[in-house]
Amino acid sequence: AEAQLRQAQKMEAVGQLTGGIAHDFNNMLAVVVGGLELAQRLVATAPDKAQRHMSNAMDGANRAADLTRRLLTFARAEPARPEMMPVDDCIASFAQLIERTIGDRIALTLDLHVPDLACWVDRQQFENALLNLAVNARDAMEGHGSLTIRTLRDEQEEVAALAVQVIDTGCGMSAEVVERVFDPFYTTKPAGQGTGLGMSQVFAFCRQSGGEVRVASTEGEGTSVAMLLPVARTQAVPAPGADADETPDVA
Ligand code: ADP
Repeated sequence: AEAQLRQAQKMEAVGQLTGGIAHDFNNMLAVVVGGLELAQRLVATAPDKAQRHMSNAMDGANRAADLTRRLLTFARAEPARPEMMPVDDCIASFAQLIERTIGDRIALTLDLHVPDLACWVDRQQFENALLNLAVNARDAMEGHGSLTIRTLRDEQEEVAALAVQVIDTGCGMSAEVVERVFDPFYTTKPAGQGTGLGMSQVFAFCRQSGGEVRVASTEGEGTSVAMLLPVARTQAVPAPGADADETPDVA
């Protein structure tokens, strides 16, 4: 609980944290401006080279746009719009997008065990969290690897809860990285490739949903991130003709 509180305080500090981002953003702008300057100089004499510098500039501009977009999403902290979300169904229908994101070299396995459980969460935020975890898993795996998304009932908790685990066979994390993984803007990725906001978003989503997130990682073996979410009390959809009043609560 104390760690959670500390994390919450860090999250609040995000609003004040501008130095690091301005630095990254400036680096990206430098790429854009530098590329355009070279292109301008070369356009008459060596159009091929100019072309190449322009596409570098374009890349830099796109990265900068991506950074600001992610920052805005993060900073705006739009109020969650929770809905009753059947967890397995949601994951199953989102799997195609995850597959496309991780590419062919990584095999995705769905191992879903809570077909009758739902959570009261913002579905878009849930999908976003899942995507962030999948991207991290992909980035942690060089060459081939496997990504498993598993759901299960979390029996230990007093409040009925379920776990959504995202498990990879990637490089794993050192104890130091595990310690800092939820810090906003903490990244070990090369400048321009990581924003360090993915795991903070996952953390914020879980917390906002009344749950929590846990990380287990072994260097050289892989990582498992578990989002623990409270189970919503739902009315199962009554079969035609069934007496709705007698439909038991699932949770
Ligand atoms: P980003 O992905 O932009 O770096 P995140 O907040 O998502 O930001 O992750 C922070 C850091 O945590 C990553 O840079 C990486 O070092 C580490 N990390 C997160 N997920 C994994 C994973 N599945 N395997 C190994 N390292 C990870």
